[in-house]
Amino acid sequence: MPSSEGGSGDQSNYKIELKKNIKNPCLTNIIDVLLKNNLEIELTRKLLDPFVSTNGININIVEISNPDPSLLGWSKALSLNNFEIQINTNFFESKSKDYIASAIVHEFAHVFLKYSIQQGNISPQSDTHKTLLDNYMSTMYQMIKNYNYNLSDETINSMILTGMAAFLNAPSDINSEELKDYFNEVILKNNFSLDSTSPNYYQNLTLDHIRGTFGNICN
Ligand SMILES: [Zn+2]
Repeated sequence: MPSSEGGSGDQSNYKIELKKNIKNPCLTNIIDVLLKNNLEIELTRKLLDPFVSTNGININIVEISNPDPSLLGWSKALSLNNFEIQINTNFFESKSKDYIASAIVHEFAHVFLKYSIQQGNISPQSDTHKTLLDNYMSTMYQMIKNYNYNLSDETINSMILTGMAAFLNAPSDINSEELKDYFNEVILKNNFSLDSTSPNYYQNLTLDHIRGTFGNICN
């Protein structure tokens, strides 16, 4: 049983507190499953071990309504140990719950990265998606797998990389050529069994989830 108190060894040295402020029933369901299957166990035992000492970390998840359906939301640091993930429910339309969960996991990875930067473990200049992949690819994979064990490795990895490919059009991040090159590195490093290194390939693989023609969708 996951516990922040009375645990053995290092587990008693920190806490993670996830505050929720969510009304949308579909988001509530996704977050509940994600937390139940994942966060209490995986976050505390595996993800935060390298970072957290004694102060704990608070992650507040809030629901927003932005008219742009392509915007999932974002994460931000409120203070040294307090973070907020904002989720846009207009992003949900027609997408599978699995895909929405993978997008939320992406935002969690941003929190981990911001936390590492605030702890001085990663340089502030490295707050990019490249660093996100470098450091949290396996973490994101595990969190999505724990959300739904029925998802294939290829689907999960494609969802993760689709999240990155979405930034091909974001000039503020690394440019598309760099990202394409980096995809190749990631594929090789992780021994993925994918037969293409094109970002479009991953988007195509996840299209059924993005369009909601595969998996459960939010009503
Ligand atoms: Zn991102």
